[in-house]
Amino acid sequence: MNWEPWTGCYKISDGCTNCYFYGPHAKRYGQNNVEKTDKFDWPIRKNAKGEYNIKGNKILATCFATDFFLPEADEWRKEVWAMIRERTDIDFLILTKRIDRFLVSLPEDWGGGYDNVNIGCTVENQAKADERLPLFLSYPIKRRFIACAPLLEAIDLTPYLDGVEHVSVGGETGRDARECDYDWVLDIREQCVKADVTFWFKNTGSLFKYDGAVQKINPYKQTGMAKELGINILNGKRLF
Ligand code: SF4
Repeated sequence: MNWEPWTGCYKISDGCTNCYFYGPHAKRYGQNNVEKTDKFDWPIRKNAKGEYNIKGNKILATCFATDFFLPEADEWRKEVWAMIRERTDIDFLILTKRIDRFLVSLPEDWGGGYDNVNIGCTVENQAKADERLPLFLSYPIKRRFIACAPLLEAIDLTPYLDGVEHVSVGGETGRDARECDYDWVLDIREQCVKADVTFWFKNTGSLFKYDGAVQKINPYKQTGMAKELGINILNGKRLF
């Protein structure tokens, strides 16, 4: 399940160039003004019987279509942290390209981190990995994952995998998508095997180089094709 307490975003790095929601075709899809959505308080909404609308034992992918750490959301985020603190029965997955704003965005009682918060740091190339991941690892976070998406080149994650639970990899989607080379994907997978970290190949992207040939992949087939390649390592854990 996805929860978007706000909508809107804008570019922060190369991986955003063709963002399907806020990139070149933003007028068709999203918009760059950051605004609260009508689902802002969704995790704590209750029905007439006083029960939460969203039952427990769920994973809520939070801000996967915007960025949790946008400065425009600084005031709203305080309320969102309170909701997350209230719903200890839900795991909140928070994905961001703005991990450098982590420390200034925390609630006072964060301490070593909330048990039900899993933070994902997105990196699209080696330069962003080398910039964001040392910061990411230095912060008090109980559960961490890395999302290499859109994967734009080979990335060496080996210095950064200690303390990370999971790595996901995905190619870029859209009419202007850049190539995703399967060799880069396999290389990251190998790094995960060696570090005993779970790995998920999420989607091939629209331009997928496989066995030396670049293929255009229909958006509806990218996830299925990645799965068919059979390279995920989940060790019995749930996918998100
Ligand atoms: S941070 Fe994410 S949602 Fe925002 S523009 Fe970049 S890719 Fe799009």
